[in-house]
Amino acid sequence: MDQGQGFFEPLDVAAYPRFSGLPTFMRLPHVADPAQLDIALIGVPWDAGVTNRPGARHGPREIRNQSSLMRRVNHQTRVCPYELARIADLGDVSVNPCDMDETMDRVVDFYTAVRKAGALPLSAGGDHMVTLPILRGLFDGTPLGLVHFDAHSDTTDSYFGGTKLTHGTPFRRAIEEGLLDPARMIQVGIRGSMFDLHDLDFARDAGVRIMFIEEAFELGTAGVVAEIRKVVGDAPCYLTFDIDCLDPAFAPGTGTPEIGGFTTAQAQQMLRGLRGLNLMGGDVVEVAPPFDPGGVTALVGATMMFEILCLMAEAVGTRKGRV
Ligand code: MN
Ligand code: MN
Repeated sequence: MDQGQGFFEPLDVAAYPRFSGLPTFMRLPHVADPAQLDIALIGVPWDAGVTNRPGARHGPREIRNQSSLMRRVNHQTRVCPYELARIADLGDVSVNPCDMDETMDRVVDFYTAVRKAGALPLSAGGDHMVTLPILRGLFDGTPLGLVHFDAHSDTTDSYFGGTKLTHGTPFRRAIEEGLLDPARMIQVGIRGSMFDLHDLDFARDAGVRIMFIEEAFELGTAGVVAEIRKVVGDAPCYLTFDIDCLDPAFAPGTGTPEIGGFTTAQAQQMLRGLRGLNLMGGDVVEVAPPFDPGGVTALVGATMMFEILCLMAEAVGTRKGRV
């Protein structure tokens, strides 16, 4: 394999043990220029979209901290992302926690620059609202498919008498704006009590495949993977992982926990089953460290990021003829 120039490696553990060094994502270098990267790891420390419990603005920093526990190779898939793609920590988007509109514009501009530089983004939120401006920045004229792990559909129209931009609305906006192809969207793990039996009508009518958690358990992880592959197909897609798709026993540090969710092991098996998808980006959102002083939720977030990184690196490596 010709690795070419410019591949980045995590900090050498022989020289710097895991508890030392600057806490970047995966202990990678901080590189400010996305043109040097195939995959950019990005933090979006912003939770002004939450409708209930805030705290996800602290997600990126804690995920960086816990990501020091990640090593180089995925033992099951045998993928080493750092041999397939140029990957580094691009830093955080500059946000204004007191101005939704200004922050939306900044996030769109940031991800537009990443796309134009030729890098794919893998992001840590932030509440789920951040995925909307990310998708706006990634949009190149062709709607993406979406693999969406979540307890919630996030396709409500508005909250509190008309507020359109919240973490419960991003995928409705993205469909309305033509950023996503609803026929190639699948939501996995949906559950929890509803406000109304018509809560999911918009998504269903748009053609989104909604898989409740009960169906996912019935199918098993292999069955879920097969259904995801059937829905999103081979065309470009995005993967968004709301940490609340997991049971709060595994990820208590989140704003809107719902019991009866996936285990971390099930999530890993589903993600590893998605090798070969035509991924253009991904994110892990809704990690709210203040609700989890033990830090396990951020560790879970960092680990899911590593799993998604392996998928994206393999996609990049395939496109560039490195695998
Ligand atoms: Mn969500
Ligand atoms: Mn959710």
